[in-house]
Amino acid sequence: MNKLIIKSIFLSLIAMTFFSCKEGDRKQDEPAQIKKDWALVIHGGAGVITRELMTPEQDSAYRRVLNEALETGKSILSEGGRAIDAVEKTIHIMENSPLFNAGKGAVFTSKGTNEMDAAIMDGSDLNAGAVAGITDIKNPVSAARAVMEKSVHVMLSGQGASEFAIGQGLEQVDPSYFYTDHRYRQLTEAINRGKNGTVGCCALDREGNLAAATSTGGMTNKKYNRIGDAPIIGAGTYANNATCAVSATGHGEYFIRWTVAHDISALMEYGHMSLKDAAETVINGKLLKAGGTGGIIAMDKYGNIAMPFNTEGMFRGFADSEGTGAVFIYKDE
Ligand code: ASP
Repeated sequence: MNKLIIKSIFLSLIAMTFFSCKEGDRKQDEPAQIKKDWALVIHGGAGVITRELMTPEQDSAYRRVLNEALETGKSILSEGGRAIDAVEKTIHIMENSPLFNAGKGAVFTSKGTNEMDAAIMDGSDLNAGAVAGITDIKNPVSAARAVMEKSVHVMLSGQGASEFAIGQGLEQVDPSYFYTDHRYRQLTEAINRGKNGTVGCCALDREGNLAAATSTGGMTNKKYNRIGDAPIIGAGTYANNATCAVSATGHGEYFIRWTVAHDISALMEYGHMSLKDAAETVINGKLLKAGGTGGIIAMDKYGNIAMPFNTEGMFRGFADSEGTGAVFIYKDE
């Protein structure tokens, strides 16, 4: 009898210690979090994006595609679909638009070619897939997903990546499909600043799973075969149900060296920071100080979002199960 009482007191003490530690992990002024049923956040690239540099027609064209992308992800998530499907299908809309530097609107290398990078990551099991330097697959994000799901590897590049994607039934296009006048003009005028337009998406589904994906043509006039941060897990793309999902855009060489996406996750995991504080610390603190320009979108396991950037503007938008959502372009929005 006595033994039983002692045992139950002991077990209660263990339970109390456990729960008080969990509470202690939370910042004192931070309210208890309520998980949204689902949430979605997108970006279409950061850079020198100001009202003065955009015509009203361009402004509304960008907003139209951003809204269309959000609608695509929303319909998947609101019907109980998976975060990983939502990020892939949402990115297809932006990859198929000539406005963004991904898929159809990819920028040119110094050799006059289009070489695309993409990555996707599933926060539920840290499974990830990426492709680098592909030239003839219509939707690079789907090639990344095929690498994740159908190969034993995380990243494939160049010809091997293309052959693999074609073998998986993905649509192959002639490299001339990626030619657009405005991108070619950017190359010949060596315009390296301006509306670059990498695309990215993070999503949380009803099951509580996070996913992230990024797709890009890289940087205008980049040396051929250069690989940026987008396909590098932990640099331009990362997702972990325990912390957050992140997709980046900006000067890739900095995002690689500062392992930006994983750094945000690590500040949450080990530093117990909120998503907002972690994202701000990295983008407007560490990265800005180092001279790295760009921004990120991120989402935590409750569906909270962060969209910090240290450039003049960033194409971005969000939507969630609470019925809120909007798209933004400029810094003052
Ligand atoms: N981060 C991309 C890269 O460096 C470019 C961009 O996001 O604008 O390849």
